[in-house]
Amino acid sequence: MKVAIRDDDTSYFTKPKDLQRAYDFLNEDDCVSLSVVPYTVPVHRDDVFPYGKEIGMGYYDIAENTELLEYLKKKYKQGKVDILLHGYSHEYQLSENKWLAEMKWKSSSQLKEEIPKGKRHLEKLLGMNISVFVAPNNSIDKKAISVLEDLQMNYSGIIGVRDRKVNLRYIYNFIIRWGFRIVKKVQYPGIMNYGKHKELNAYTIDNYERLIYEYHICKARKVPFVIYTHYWQLNTDEKAKKLIKQIYNYVIKDGAEIVPLSECFK
Ligand SMILES: [Zn+2]
Repeated sequence: MKVAIRDDDTSYFTKPKDLQRAYDFLNEDDCVSLSVVPYTVPVHRDDVFPYGKEIGMGYYDIAENTELLEYLKKKYKQGKVDILLHGYSHEYQLSENKWLAEMKWKSSSQLKEEIPKGKRHLEKLLGMNISVFVAPNNSIDKKAISVLEDLQMNYSGIIGVRDRKVNLRYIYNFIIRWGFRIVKKVQYPGIMNYGKHKELNAYTIDNYERLIYEYHICKARKVPFVIYTHYWQLNTDEKAKKLIKQIYNYVIKDGAEIVPLSECFK
């Protein structure tokens, strides 16, 4: 049984010790899948400060954090981290009193320029290929998905409604996933193939019983179980840390293996 732990928001501001502290409960052979922001902003919306409150506005290039890059390269070679692309800057924009996440408010032409640029930047800095995309706030629509298809990337995240190109495969997947959701009351488990890209749901770590139920649904269907969190949250919220440790202990005891998320699409 494959289990992947996705951790979002690694960026210029991340210190290796922040990641080590968040995942101090893992075993030697486990792998954390880090979704990385290439040119991050310091604040999410105007009230979430993943990196602290005292940072000036602007875009911060991960290339400037060489300590982090060396750490990631080393850990990737050892198989202890996987690298995913997490947007470009993670910037939100306010529209009619609602905060829109990056993949929603940016224009098609901006996304076409920025997503490949961010991907190339990280790949060059880390000397590797990145094949999985994670949308900031798990919000995405067909504009960004078409860029991912051009880049032959797969998508990790929660799937919304009416946000994909409508074709036969979309309709088939739509019926399957919503049918499943209505009957089982949980997100569809397993990989959905949209032809030019694949998608795999990631479960929010919020409730022990529900997550164990979802784990067993994945196990019964022999598909990977992916959970996601944020290292900065694990380091500041005791409850969140306790919950992920409980889930981790459960799946390890059950014989699961913690694998790179990129491998789950193969
Ligand atoms: Zn994020």
